[in-house]
Formats: sequence, structure tokens, C-alpha cells
Amino acid sequence: MNTPKKVNICEVGLRDGLQNEKSMLTTDQKVELIEGLIDAGFKVIEVGSFMHPVKVPQMADTDEVIKRIGNPEGVELRALIPNLRGVERAVKCGCKKVKLNVSASRMHNLKNLNRTPEESVAKFAEVCEAALAAGIAISGSISMPFASPWEGVTPVEDVDSIIEAYGKVGIHEVSLSDASGMATPAQVASLCAHVQEKFPENTWWLHFHNTRGLAMANIVAAMDVGMTQFDSSFGGLGGCPFVPNAAGNISTEDVLHMCEASGIETGIDLPKVMALTRKMQEMLGKEDLSSYVLKAGRNADLIAQMAE
Ligand code: ZN
Repeated sequence: MNTPKKVNICEVGLRDGLQNEKSMLTTDQKVELIEGLIDAGFKVIEVGSFMHPVKVPQMADTDEVIKRIGNPEGVELRALIPNLRGVERAVKCGCKKVKLNVSASRMHNLKNLNRTPEESVAKFAEVCEAALAAGIAISGSISMPFASPWEGVTPVEDVDSIIEAYGKVGIHEVSLSDASGMATPAQVASLCAHVQEKFPENTWWLHFHNTRGLAMANIVAAMDVGMTQFDSSFGGLGGCPFVPNAAGNISTEDVLHMCEASGIETGIDLPKVMALTRKMQEMLGKEDLSSYVLKAGRNADLIAQMAE
């Protein structure tokens, strides 16, 4: 099995996690958590989104959060945007990285937006131009590139044509997002190998929800074929409003621990993240988090404890 020497982990709990929580954190609490994440070593953090505040009230203060954090050296603060208005808000608050999203499910896209995924991406052209003109980097995410509740396994040709559509509007950083938690390791390995070969100019992110307990296996399968950038969420926070029974993202602690125990460098301090996740848990007043390592502790700590 191939394991990379080094991987890049993006913490998405502040966005993908908090937007699915009933309790809202204050701006101060979010800033405290983000500063803690930066201190723990994260170089990429998805801090929020510029969705309409009525639709996603938990993310209404993303502008303020980014203003407060500023632009720490070597750290990318990423925000999800739905449209041109998102770029305008990014410019105003000094956000340097935005991310668009489209569903790979033709049926889901047609039903909700009355257009194909490719048409959705083509409409992003003006958003990309505006971002580029403002010196803001932009990436694109594809939801359910592996499988969806509406169509079952997503045809590879559909994924290819969405990646091509992203390329046409100038987006070459693409995130494959298993929002439905339906991907399987063999399928992940196969699609990841395929897209890397077909689109060598692109960079990739993988985003797995742990709805059916397969997220870690999927990460390992993606690593085996050369993928090195993964999203995760502290405490396994998250869900997905439009996918039935969606669970949270794979927990950051579990991913960091798997890397630590496998000799894969992340540049992130796991004990610091565990302490921060407990702080977040207190802030949200949440009893149970879906993080194995938070409950069982690290291998390394257990070995040290037994040696005492
Ligand atoms: Zn997600």
C-alpha cells in the first residue's frame, strides 16, 4: 500500500459542522476556535460561508470572523460562496479564498435549480472573473461525485464533464465531496486515479462524510492512489441539509491520529486539536461527538501510560 509522506488537512468544522448545529456560536467563540486551529498548525481552514444569512444564520458573521482573524502568514482561510454576491462580501472582509459548489447528481440539480450541473458551472464564469480581478483564489467542489441517493453510482463521464466545465471557467482546484456518505473505497481509488490521470493540471481535495462508517477507508484508498489533501471536521461535526440521514464529516482527530500512527506528516499537533475539540464541545453544549480518538485517546499516549 502507498502512503504519502505528507498530507494537507483542511478543518471544515466551522462551516460544514456549525451550519448543521442548532446552537449558534458567537463571533468571539468562532475566532477563539480558529486561532486555536492556527496555533495547532492548520494551514487551510474553511471558516464559513457567504450564503444568505436568512438561509444559513449560523454563517451570518463569516465576514466579521474573517476580518477579526486577518490574514495570518501561510494560512488560507476559505469560505464557501453561492454566487457573485459571495465574491463581493469576500472582497469587503479581505477573504482571499472562496469555494463554489455543484451537485454531480443531474436529477438533484435539475429538480432544485432547473439546470444541469454543467450549466450551473458555466454560470459561475462571472463569479470566477470577479474573484480573479480582485486577487481572490477560487476552487470548485463537486458534491456526490461517487454516488447519490437519487441516481445511485454517479457515472464517471458526468464527473469528467463537470471538471471540464470548471476548467473552462478557470477553476483547477477541485474538491470531490461525498456529501451523501455513499462512496466505497474501491470506487474512490478508481475515480481518484482516473481524474488525476485525465486532468493532470488540477489539484484535488477529498471530502468524506462518515455516514456509513466508510470515510476513513475512503481516505486511505485515496491516499493509496496519490491523493494528499483532505477535509475533516473536529469532533466529526456536520451533516447535509439536502441529503437524507447525512452524518458529519470524518473527525479531524481520527484522521490526524491515523496519520500520526502511520508516520504520515500533517504538521498539526493532535493533542492541541483534541483540547480544542473539547472546548468546542463545551461551547455547543453537545454531549456526544463522533470522534473515536477523542474517546479512546491516542496510541502514543496509551503506550506512554503503560510504560509508567
Ligand atoms: Zn460536507
